[in-house]
Amino acid sequence: MMNNQGRPTGIDGTTETSNAGYETYTGNRGLAQVEGLIYEIGDTQRTGVDLPEVEEFESCIGGVTRDNEIGLAGLTEPEAMRHYTRLSRKNYAIDLGLYPLGSCTMKHNPRLNEKVARLPGVADIHPLQPISTVQGALDLIDTLAHWLKTLTGMPAVAMSPKAGAHGELCGLMAIRSALEAKGDARSIVLAPESAHGTNPATAALCGYKVKPIPATEDGRVDLDAMKEALGPDVAAIMVTNPNTCGLFEREIIEIADAVHAIGGYFYCDGANFNAIVGKVRPGDLGVDAMHINLHKTFSTPHGGGGPGAGPVVLSEALAPYAPIPYVVMGEEDFDMVEHDTTGKSFGRMTAFHGQMGMFTRALAYMMSHGADGLARVAEDSVLNANYVLASLKDIMSASFEGPCMHEALFDDRFLKDTGVSTLDFSKAMIDEGYHPMTMYFPLVVHGAMLIEPTESESKQSVDQFIGMMRYLVEKAKAGDTGRFTGAPYNAPLKRLDETGAARNPVLRWTAAE
Ligand SMILES: *Cc1c(COP(=O)(O)O)cnc(C)c1O
Repeated sequence: MMNNQGRPTGIDGTTETSNAGYETYTGNRGLAQVEGLIYEIGDTQRTGVDLPEVEEFESCIGGVTRDNEIGLAGLTEPEAMRHYTRLSRKNYAIDLGLYPLGSCTMKHNPRLNEKVARLPGVADIHPLQPISTVQGALDLIDTLAHWLKTLTGMPAVAMSPKAGAHGELCGLMAIRSALEAKGDARSIVLAPESAHGTNPATAALCGYKVKPIPATEDGRVDLDAMKEALGPDVAAIMVTNPNTCGLFEREIIEIADAVHAIGGYFYCDGANFNAIVGKVRPGDLGVDAMHINLHKTFSTPHGGGGPGAGPVVLSEALAPYAPIPYVVMGEEDFDMVEHDTTGKSFGRMTAFHGQMGMFTRALAYMMSHGADGLARVAEDSVLNANYVLASLKDIMSASFEGPCMHEALFDDRFLKDTGVSTLDFSKAMIDEGYHPMTMYFPLVVHGAMLIEPTESESKQSVDQFIGMMRYLVEKAKAGDTGRFTGAPYNAPLKRLDETGAARNPVLRWTAAE
């Protein structure tokens, strides 16, 4: 029997399931192969290459020598190819099917972007090259910055943050610096209860106390409660718009005015910008800082597909505190400002200028869409989500009356008395060949199911998803509980103990005795 460390089921198919069909000798399901760890299938005595014997050599690290085998698994070339190809087939990917993760904007990554990012003049340059040899790259960063400022109606942008959460950190550090410059250190940041976890985490990392603001019955920031929480010690409020319930914060201008009135700043979490791009300029809403997830709104790959990028647009008041380095146009050429001469910048967040490959893809996306195309992105994302909401709300429980923005929020009231939980339901979606939606977030509704179809899905694709969801809801309501509680049945690893895996992770493989 295979050593099965770190995996509750697998090679030897230890989980009995009711509709699993025949157990197979190999554990495979049709052409979906079960694959062991590389240590289990490899052999320390085997290798795919023919290397010359190492001659006598002198240790150059002062006599530090290894006294036992490393024990690395050796594979032949075809074995290595098969191992990684089999693993790759276990990935669900945006190129395989609809990925309804709410708030994540898992949309298609146009291949044109990939083509542009692979051009040698973009892909083969290095951040330590002389500035004179990378003028085109700096031009690209500057052009992207220009369009980010234009689309948001904001005067400045910090390009270097490498993710949304990193952008939040940048924005709050700029806010803290601006307040400290006025000799006005404050200690509280407000965040709605529906906020993405990164918002309170960022505020806490910056040393602030986080005060949660409750939501109203209709899923939005409770303006009265927010005003009550305001005071001279409030540094900022962090609000997502559209928010994580998929709703537009209608009172956003009042929120901004109220926080400005007490001398605080308005941080907008711009992760959901794809719902309003080309339609609303956050600068017109009183925003002081907002990160833009290029990997969400501007379609650069994410979620295992590549690094993110989280440029932060800044208001006039915060711009002087932006991090270095940044690109400027000099007398004739572009230049990078590497050292702050004003004494205001809060410092450096990253070694270099940010994620060049993602900048390239985002700019390619913007330019291939044009202004009209980007507005259409927002329209189609909202249309698709409302189509999902309207098509499912007769049999699932919509948390809020529509219309919604780019995502549709359901809770688990429709599963009451079925014996099926949100988790069970999502596992049954895996059997149907779909990655589950976002579950149990936002926290303001019970057993949340947050669905974002995105603008890049066709009606046919969304219809198929809706049909699948209706089918499962009917099965749950008809009492076919086992289909859910033991799901997934069609996946190689079936139901995992996710809590156990998170609480007690087995991260190290050790050879069987
Ligand atoms: C994705 C997301 C973030 C964090 O962005 P990352 O790029 O994953 O760090 C923050 N807030 C909201 C609402 C998000 O959806």
